[in-house]
Amino acid sequence: MKTIGILGGGQLARMLAQAGQSMGLEFIFLDPAADACAAELGEHICADWDDSTALHELGHRSDVVTFDFENVPEASASLIASLCPVYPPPQALFVSQDRLREKSLMQELGIPVAAFYPVSTRPDLLAAIEQLELPSVLKTRRFGYDGKGQAVLRLQEDLERSWQQLGDQQLICERFVSFDVECSIIAARGRDGRSVFWPLTRNLHREGVLAISKAPSFDQQMQSRAEALIQRLMDHFDYTGVMALELFLKDGQLLANEFAPRVHNSGHWTIDGARTSQFENHLRAICGLPLGSTESASKALMFNLLGHMPGTATESVTMAEHWQQVHWHDYHKTARDGRKIGHVTVTGESESGLLARAALLAGELGVAAEINLESLAGGLDSVDK
Ligand code: AMP
Repeated sequence: MKTIGILGGGQLARMLAQAGQSMGLEFIFLDPAADACAAELGEHICADWDDSTALHELGHRSDVVTFDFENVPEASASLIASLCPVYPPPQALFVSQDRLREKSLMQELGIPVAAFYPVSTRPDLLAAIEQLELPSVLKTRRFGYDGKGQAVLRLQEDLERSWQQLGDQQLICERFVSFDVECSIIAARGRDGRSVFWPLTRNLHREGVLAISKAPSFDQQMQSRAEALIQRLMDHFDYTGVMALELFLKDGQLLANEFAPRVHNSGHWTIDGARTSQFENHLRAICGLPLGSTESASKALMFNLLGHMPGTATESVTMAEHWQQVHWHDYHKTARDGRKIGHVTVTGESESGLLARAALLAGELGVAAEINLESLAGGLDSVDK
């Protein structure tokens, strides 16, 4: 029996623990939130990220420590790493916490990214815009997530407004990418360096937040190109665990946006749609076990559920035949506007059947008007030039 310590007790930790139950693993979560939703599945140390006593307790009682929270302070992760093995390597965490370090590393590794400049002062911003032109995207280097801490600069007057909003922090200004689609590649690398990759996933965002993921969506050539990019990052860090790389596809070219050194929202479909989920393979990797197959078990389309769980998830539904192969996941979090509180994955063998049921579901969820499911039809093979 192994004990896994997790820095963070949110839904990612919860789904890791769910996957770990059948593997005979036990979990301890460190999270300052009293209502951390993973706590139902293990022991919860409720303490701040920099609480040295709590960090020592976690480090001493765990066989291996991982994280579901990207902003674990560097000192806390380093302290834990002095007490027990931490996977993925904390260095990957530190780089991903700072967009400038992250983009600079990807550039060094030959991973294509949109042109960018560091911005600390107003003249820096003006100089960056002179090079990049409008539109551009201004982002905080740290603590940005789900579209927060960033502004699209379209007009000259946007510069002053966004400087007022963000200018008190270290920033990065990037070229705006008018992408054709967004996608993400998720991979797992074992302690022996062997890597496996799930099918490249197509993603739709609404207001900066992931709304839908669909897989598989791309041909083998695009898959191989995305795999080669994430492989460079994983090899650089001598990585162990699951990593996600978010990408833009524009005119047949892949451009990296950011990587996440952890299981990722766009990989939730793997629970119901792949032979082995990202959560199980992350645990296998950090425990030194052989990795499971990442093959698709069926086509899958995932909706994030924001704010509150819809009644459909719990009521007995009359349209039973439509609700086959619809898999609800409730994170048992308190409802709050915009909060990720669950997800639902539709699986199916045929593309048309999948999209028809997804359209019904979108209607039930009240998002049909905002989400263009038709844009997700078919593969993207033809985009590859
Ligand atoms: P991020 O926080 O960097 O993951 O950005 C959140 C979302 O904003 C992305 O998924 C994109 O939809 C959009 N976005 C971020 N950077 C750019 C960019 N340089 N050009 C166009 N859209 C962007």
